[in-house]
Amino acid sequence: MPSLSDPVNALKGVGEKRVSALHQLGIDTVGDLLFYFPFRYEDIRTRSLAELGDGEKVTLKGLVIAPPVVSRFGRNRTRLNVRVLVEDLPIVVTFFNQPWLKDKIVENTEVAVFGIWNAMKHSMTGQRLIAQAEGGNAGMSPIYSVNKHIRQRTLVDLIEQAYKQYAPLLTDVVPVPLRRHYKLEETATIVHDMHFPRNSEDARAARRSAAFRELFLFECRMQSLRADNNKEDAGLALNYDLQAMREFIKTLPFELTNAQKRVVNEIVADMKRPHHMNRLLQGDVGSGKTIVAVLALFAAVTAGYQAALMVPTEILAEQHYQKIAQLLAPMHVSVGLLTGSLSATDRAKTVHDIATGRLNVIIGTHALIQDTVKFAKLGLAVIDEQHRFGVNQRRELRRKGLSPDVLMMTATPIPRTLAITTYGEMDVSTIDELPAGRHPIVTEWLKSNQTRQVYDRLRSELAAGAQAYVVTPLIAESEAIDLRNAEDLYEKMTKALPQYHVALLHGQLKNQDKNDIMGAFARNEVQVLVATTVVEVGMDVANANLMIIFDADRFGLSQLHQLRGRVGRGSRHAYCYLIADPKNQVAISRMEAMVKTTDGFVLAEEDLKLRGPGDVFGDEQSGLPSFNVADPVGDSAMLDVAHGEAGAIFDTDPQLQAPDHQGIAQYLAELKRRNQYFD
Ligand code: ADP
Ligand code: MG
Repeated sequence: MPSLSDPVNALKGVGEKRVSALHQLGIDTVGDLLFYFPFRYEDIRTRSLAELGDGEKVTLKGLVIAPPVVSRFGRNRTRLNVRVLVEDLPIVVTFFNQPWLKDKIVENTEVAVFGIWNAMKHSMTGQRLIAQAEGGNAGMSPIYSVNKHIRQRTLVDLIEQAYKQYAPLLTDVVPVPLRRHYKLEETATIVHDMHFPRNSEDARAARRSAAFRELFLFECRMQSLRADNNKEDAGLALNYDLQAMREFIKTLPFELTNAQKRVVNEIVADMKRPHHMNRLLQGDVGSGKTIVAVLALFAAVTAGYQAALMVPTEILAEQHYQKIAQLLAPMHVSVGLLTGSLSATDRAKTVHDIATGRLNVIIGTHALIQDTVKFAKLGLAVIDEQHRFGVNQRRELRRKGLSPDVLMMTATPIPRTLAITTYGEMDVSTIDELPAGRHPIVTEWLKSNQTRQVYDRLRSELAAGAQAYVVTPLIAESEAIDLRNAEDLYEKMTKALPQYHVALLHGQLKNQDKNDIMGAFARNEVQVLVATTVVEVGMDVANANLMIIFDADRFGLSQLHQLRGRVGRGSRHAYCYLIADPKNQVAISRMEAMVKTTDGFVLAEEDLKLRGPGDVFGDEQSGLPSFNVADPVGDSAMLDVAHGEAGAIFDTDPQLQAPDHQGIAQYLAELKRRNQYFD
């Protein structure tokens, strides 16, 4: 019996090669193929010369009046020229690097060519030939994203074939009441009109319904993952000692903010429940996430478990280790550090102490998730700056113990709509308040010929006993030049400020040297730290109140915000100088946004407007799902609705037993069968 889960080679003309080409596009089954929608349509209706503007993409039809001529130029490049008579006007059409078209263009026959019209020269840069039947009556030709192993035309043929044979098997997943309420089309109509629209209204309506369907299914999966997580017996119940927590809080050097108290309560209450905690702690830079993490670590220890904190860099691990060991010392908690740069003996000892349970709290880099590390009784794993870790590394740590509770922390502010997609299956706690007594960081953008002002400020702040970061970019592609720049800047600073200690910190130093320099800066033995982006995340030196960023236009907005967040952590007034001569409007807008606000969430929204979500978070780190039709930013209102509706369904019918919910249940079962449920 045919089914949408049939492999693509059930179709005629699909052999091993095409199976693998399709697989690379994420198409394995006939169903995948039918839901592989075009990302746009080309209007391939023939147009008349009179209505054309220069540079327009159009289809022209005409008579070939001379045989095509192919010439070579450069290295392996070809140019095909052919003269075509269009409405009595002879024009030249040029195709680059498609020499094979020579055989398809025959003198004295009609051709239809799609390309870019040049009105001055009466010529066209041809992109492709249009086949007679292409695009149907609507003249709308679907454009699919393809790879070099499969052509548009092939894909179109396969989709047509699949549609003819399998369309009756298409079933609905979006429940009928929702479909009616939001005026959405049935799946069969969506599939038809996405591939073969009769007109642009059809295509638009189909796209809207397809986007909703996609977002809704995504949200259903998130709800289902979350429900699995919350199954009562799946995790650990950490019975922490409230009295001990209270005593510990009394020893802290500051009063917790209300937001910190609230999120600590949310977290420990969650840890106490027997399910598997999967929680995100969100809070802007400087909002005080570390102490919240320490309280959670301590809570796990009072419940008789070990707790681990994983951070992205050795410098950060070292810094956290120093601070946390000190904070926890009065509570008789033994804290250990595990990083890649430990000596073999130290490492062996630490690994041993983790395995025997002698260490209660372990702080480390990804060295923590290596196979040789076995925890005696891991109850809680905290992951700091979680956006720096790949999804797999996070999952790895989670597998380490008896299914420990997991708390992820992030300062990368995520606009609400993206938070829904990125962290849809997580519970979220948010610190929305900065510790009292902070002054807003004064931010100024200066051109590179205005640095005098910066040096004046630097001298006066240093004279008042403060410290400064001076940051310059180090980007992989231009690493050698950038490193040279950092060294030059370091020499310049050393000469300009003879009475202070200036140090240079960059990624190519040995870890031990980096730690030493950071340690010296933290102890105020170094007053000016010239650094590349290694200081970007997590660094916490409250006495530093000046951040000077050279070539600031080369940094992204979230990176600039992170860097700025290194200062303004104490009671001193803090300053951030962006030195940049941006050339393009996007970079100018970034500088202006930084000057206008210090609110990370506002900046994140701004960043999203200036660039796409992939750019904001980096494709790999983002964990953002890639949608086929929907655009989580452009369709954010729809995403909100899908989120709410999916939530309501799982609240009222968690087992998906209602007849209207059978489509969802089948969809989830199919994902599990195909091992696509978790990623
Ligand atoms: P982030 O959220 O960026 O990780 P940190 O945890 O590093 O922020 O905290 C920033 C600074 O604020 C640290 O120096 C920390 O000691 C301090 N801090 C945290 N909570 C408070 C508080 N409630 N009152 C005063 N200072 C605090
Ligand atoms: Mg931090």
